[in-house]
Amino acid sequence: MLTYARNIRDTVMTTLKGMQITLRNLRRPETTVQYPEEQCEIKPGYRGFHTLDQEICILCFQCAKICPVDCIEMAATRVEKKFLSWEQFTVDYNKCLFCDLCVEVCPVDCIHMDRKTGPSQYAVITDDRTTLNIDLLIYRGLSETGVKAVDKLRADKAAAAAKPAPAPAAPPSAPAAPRTTEGA
Ligand code: SF4
Ligand code: SF4
Repeated sequence: MLTYARNIRDTVMTTLKGMQITLRNLRRPETTVQYPEEQCEIKPGYRGFHTLDQEICILCFQCAKICPVDCIEMAATRVEKKFLSWEQFTVDYNKCLFCDLCVEVCPVDCIHMDRKTGPSQYAVITDDRTTLNIDLLIYRGLSETGVKAVDKLRADKAAAAAKPAPAPAAPPSAPAAPRTTEGA
């Protein structure tokens, strides 16, 4: 009988305690959002998926070299020595540790982890792991400004090559015969 009464008392006390916590939290402001319809503000320094300012990148490979898990790969060719024609810049999120080292080492501040917008800044949802090797390139080949600059450079070179070669200089005239004083 005593145990029965004790059980009833514990049940009532536990319920009251739970209700007390619920009522206390009802007055607190909400800290959750209805993702993905609503999204939290991304603070500077947040380590999310990478973005690349492709036009600024100088193909120095420093990010790939410092990456502790070798998950960055890039390929581009130089056109007219200074313009990059892009083929690949991938980050393999099967391996990435979100350590930020690649961002910190970049000498021109062109790779970031807090600039993506939309639901993809938080999550890549997939059942195929091969899709997690993501290419950050926005365009392939040369940039628009690169194409114009290369075209101009090549047109200038072609124009310079088509110019007629300057006429060869006339040979210097023979030196005058020295005068003699013979018979003077
Ligand atoms: S965040 Fe770290 S692990 Fe991920 S790509 Fe950059 S250096 Fe590599
Ligand atoms: S460190 Fe920066 S500039 Fe160098 S290859 Fe990586 S992203 Fe490009």
